[in-house]
Amino acid sequence: MHQMTLAEIARGLADKKFSSEELTKVLLARITQLDPQLNSFISLTEALALEQAKAADARRANGESGALLGAPIAHKDLFCTQGIRTSCGSKMLDNFKAPYDATVVAKLAAAGAVTLGKTNMDEFAMGSANESSWYGAVKNPWNLEHVPGGSSGGSAAAVAARLLPAATATDTGGSIRQPAAFTNLTGLKPTYGRVSRWGMIAYASSLDQGGPLARTAEDCAILLQGMAGFDQNDSTSIDEPVPDYSASLGDSLQGLRIGVPKEYFSAGLDPRIAELIQNSIKELQKLGAVIKEISLPNMQHAIPAYYVIAPAEASSNLSRFDGVRFGHRCEQPKDLIDLYKRSRGEGFGPEVQRRIMVGAYALSAGYYDAYYLKAQKIRRLVKNDFMAAFNEVDIILGPTTPNPAWKLGAKNSDPVAAYLEDVYTITANLAGLPGLSMPAGFVDGLPVGVQLLAPYFQEGRLLNVAHQYQLNTDWHTRTPTGF
Ligand code: GLN
Repeated sequence: MHQMTLAEIARGLADKKFSSEELTKVLLARITQLDPQLNSFISLTEALALEQAKAADARRANGESGALLGAPIAHKDLFCTQGIRTSCGSKMLDNFKAPYDATVVAKLAAAGAVTLGKTNMDEFAMGSANESSWYGAVKNPWNLEHVPGGSSGGSAAAVAARLLPAATATDTGGSIRQPAAFTNLTGLKPTYGRVSRWGMIAYASSLDQGGPLARTAEDCAILLQGMAGFDQNDSTSIDEPVPDYSASLGDSLQGLRIGVPKEYFSAGLDPRIAELIQNSIKELQKLGAVIKEISLPNMQHAIPAYYVIAPAEASSNLSRFDGVRFGHRCEQPKDLIDLYKRSRGEGFGPEVQRRIMVGAYALSAGYYDAYYLKAQKIRRLVKNDFMAAFNEVDIILGPTTPNPAWKLGAKNSDPVAAYLEDVYTITANLAGLPGLSMPAGFVDGLPVGVQLLAPYFQEGRLLNVAHQYQLNTDWHTRTPTGF
């Protein structure tokens, strides 16, 4: 039962092969049994899950239908869930019970999805390995000595280990696509503004975007359908109609123009990954796609620009966690300054503190022009590169990551080494474009992802290409041993 995808679950529920309550119990038991190896959940919400499952069964009995009605999911622990701990992976918010549901949580609940729990993540979504969580590292189900990627590592590990079929995640610089690549999943970062950020605890507001993590493109289409849409509560949400993502999955790829940036195949890319990417290109050519070499000349500047802009926004967003308005408060403060210093010093872990310091420095009066303003100019150049490329091609294809999942602890002493691994993903966030990662093979038993990028609001095209690829390949069906 735990092997089923969202699409299979929807069919099984519609055909009355099992109830949502039965399925929910099976998965909760599986999580209790297997998650101690992975640490993918911060909180389990058994009582809520059973209540939602029974309500979904009752709605089906009354003649209602819908792909998400009775479907078990989990939320990354930065989506506010009313009355339930929403920790953001931080000691700072360990005792925070959100007073309301994030728009994404409310929309999915209204569609009948069943929340099994809240998944582990890098602290405040800062990281690429899920090792900065206050609740401990998450393990990769493909090899428990390796990281699952981050920051949505809990959602990814749980779905990859078949603890549940799909989960929500967020992507500021790659945190949906990179863990998808590291755990053999399909993950989609939507266009900035497509999915509401209301109730999603902010890391870098101009880059953050929620999206689905699942095993197949078909399932990402189902979950995205429940998440996407205009929200008056989010001023950056865009009032564009949401297409039927499942309806375009079957479209032909005949004549699809795929651009492959020459900059992607530089010395930093593991040659074994390069070969798998070439194989995926050949597969798509067989399906009728036409390949064209393109150039993204400013790509080399993207990492430094991102690692100025993201920390700058983080330093501002995280100022609210001061022990007074929000967050952990230290014991027995001597005075107000002591209260701020110790509350923040105790509540935030080292990576978060590093980012706040870098961000505050980049925004400070003497350095604003040299760092922050410069980074914003680079951001525009990166976007312009994409706009020029999309005049010639429909999709851009390349690796999701330069290397497969590294060993736990391998990059702990060198944060910049981890930042460099984000080279292929962060450009889409800087430009606000949608991007998808899908399974493309294995290196030393560890999964490899291929990334597809599309013009604004072309999530349907990404899902269509990924679905056609998945109809003709079986990488996405591989299951990690022991799960
Ligand atoms: N690895 C990137 C960072 O640490 C991206 C994280 C994310 O997308 N949330 O900022």
